[in-house]
Amino acid sequence: MSFNLDLLVRPNIKNLVPYSSARDEFKGEASIYLDANENSFGSPLTKWYNRYPDPLQVKLKEKLSEIKGIQVENMFLGNGSDECIDILFRAFCEPAIDNIIICPPTYGMYEVSANINDVKVKKVPLTPDFGLNVPAIADAVDDNTKLIFLCSPNNPSGNSLDRIDIEVLLNNYHGIVVIDEAYINFSRFRSFSREIAEYPNLVVMQTLSKAWGLAALRVGMCFASTGIINIMNRIKPPYNINQASQELALQALDRVGEVNEMIREIVRERSVLEEELPKLGVVEHVYPSDGNFLLVRVTTPREIYSYLLGKGIVVRDRSRVQLCEGCLRITVGTPDENKILLEALSEFQAQ
Ligand SMILES: *Cc1c(COP(=O)(O)O)cnc(C)c1O
Repeated sequence: MSFNLDLLVRPNIKNLVPYSSARDEFKGEASIYLDANENSFGSPLTKWYNRYPDPLQVKLKEKLSEIKGIQVENMFLGNGSDECIDILFRAFCEPAIDNIIICPPTYGMYEVSANINDVKVKKVPLTPDFGLNVPAIADAVDDNTKLIFLCSPNNPSGNSLDRIDIEVLLNNYHGIVVIDEAYINFSRFRSFSREIAEYPNLVVMQTLSKAWGLAALRVGMCFASTGIINIMNRIKPPYNINQASQELALQALDRVGEVNEMIREIVRERSVLEEELPKLGVVEHVYPSDGNFLLVRVTTPREIYSYLLGKGIVVRDRSRVQLCEGCLRITVGTPDENKILLEALSEFQAQ
């Protein structure tokens, strides 16, 4: 079956007359703005916070376009990736009728967002070594399967998914393949974002929350065909990225050199932990990671979690997650933080 965006999008969305804001209806420069019921006298803050922000975040997208090598019209920005996920559901999934596929263990938000939107979730677990089970995914797909969510590098396992497996899905599946690349900057492998011209059914998600160190600003990115991007723009709240976030993100994007240095240090520290953790008796296995975290199987996960918490160190207990039995997910910290973590773990062992 070939990909047909018109058939995939929900009829109510296809027929939607989007909200037309004052900023949509007048885009030029004027000297007096009396069109948006803003406070003409100003704001308690300096700058232009009395004005509504650019609904399409053009300056920010132009800067991202330079960095990512992706055209502005192939880019959508969300209030975090989480908003991108929600908008994909609202664009393509008819509540109570359509379904999606996820491959657990993976990021929890796909399922939560599906539940919020009353969309059925088909779960096709990853293999024990956290690879895609492509034949099982093919079996699970039916006429109402609108989205397949892939996470690469995957949270919480840390590995990248096999590129060929992803290409098989992109080439054979009639719906949309969403690849969540939140951790791509820490990975050895290249992004799928350069393939959006090749695959009309591909959506690549990235974020400023991880490598860029801007989780508080809430800026998530989607890269896709203009057809998909236009649909997402019709659905989104008009001013979904606030002015302060747009300005601060723009400033941060000028400092790509510093960010790349942080990424190098994080990857270096990840190697230190990969080397040191297995030397501890409580550590049974450290899974290889392309992210800024490690999935670590330990002897007694819940006790170790509590012990670390008692020392003021909080990690993520994933031990009750299928295929992650016995595991903690540990974010790579600063060199000092990692040293304290390693000391605490060897103290636990010694007690
Ligand atoms: C952290 C994370 C995100 C980021 O979400 P934001 O809403 O952009 O902060 C997205 N996907 C995965 C898999 C993550 O782990």
